[in-house]
Amino acid sequence: MNFFKVPPFKDAHVHFVVDGKPISDEGIISIGKEFQKMGIFEVRDMGFSTAEGFRAKRLIGDKIKIKTCGYALYKKGTYGVFLGKGIDNVKEARDLVSQIIKEGADFIKVVNSGIVSLKSKNYISPGGFTFEELKIICQEAKNKGLEIVCHVNGDKAIRDAIKAGVVSIEHGYFASMETLQEMKEKLVSWTPTVFSLRQYSILLKDDEKNILQRIIDNHLKSINYASTIGVKINIGTDSGSRHVKHGESFFDELRLLKQSGIDLQKILSYACMDEEDYTGKYLLLKEDFIDTREVQITSVTPKSAIEVKSLIKSASKIGRAGEGFLYDTL
Ligand SMILES: [Zn+2]
Repeated sequence: MNFFKVPPFKDAHVHFVVDGKPISDEGIISIGKEFQKMGIFEVRDMGFSTAEGFRAKRLIGDKIKIKTCGYALYKKGTYGVFLGKGIDNVKEARDLVSQIIKEGADFIKVVNSGIVSLKSKNYISPGGFTFEELKIICQEAKNKGLEIVCHVNGDKAIRDAIKAGVVSIEHGYFASMETLQEMKEKLVSWTPTVFSLRQYSILLKDDEKNILQRIIDNHLKSINYASTIGVKINIGTDSGSRHVKHGESFFDELRLLKQSGIDLQKILSYACMDEEDYTGKYLLLKEDFIDTREVQITSVTPKSAIEVKSLIKSASKIGRAGEGFLYDTL
């Protein structure tokens, strides 16, 4: 059996709510504990209408590295009401970007489509901005020095987002191969959130389940393709949405990526914090950890730091940090 010693995990897409609803301070603290138990020491909060990410940062930001957008920005009258604040015109966009930054956002999130919905045309519910509006929002955020991530489904809307200058595509259902290629060229990362869509099927009738399964199968093929051509993939669970639990869903997402045919070393490189974000903790994993969900957390003591250093040194010949430092004795 092989073992891995890797930096802690990072969940790139969470919401600090449960089943889509805000929770108490104690609830947020127990989510933090759940993350820690599973070896997740960094999360990106993707917004809520009551900015739960700001509260989470105050409550557990000393234990988990939290980056938050506070509120997501969406086009008034379309999808996104519970995720953040609505925008109707360019002036509102400028004002809101400034306000959210003042409140402490680490990045800006913009909603450029609806969600996957079997009841809607092309299986995407209405939502998103015109390209001009999107460009102005992105420019405004950039002028203030913040990166923009984008909730978006549907090939054209994804392309618009890339052209407007976002750094990551969240969800990204129905992206074509050409669009994925463009993401690779422009260094736009992808958080495919496949498990959360699978959980949505719990609510469906059998014939709808079959349609959804086809969408998921195609999504997994796209994820595999993106990985093969070198798109940077993030592991994001969308936990906090319905039937997606914080912490344990991370392993469900990993299992689906494995199922898509991506090898373990690569999956680990997507799942772990960057080396420069290193917190003083390592995870010790057996190669079957995705199925067993067993994670051991170790802190670096002065004695083991020497050991770690030499491991990193030898591992750098295998691949960059985060790709899993493979060795066979622990
Ligand atoms: Zn989300």
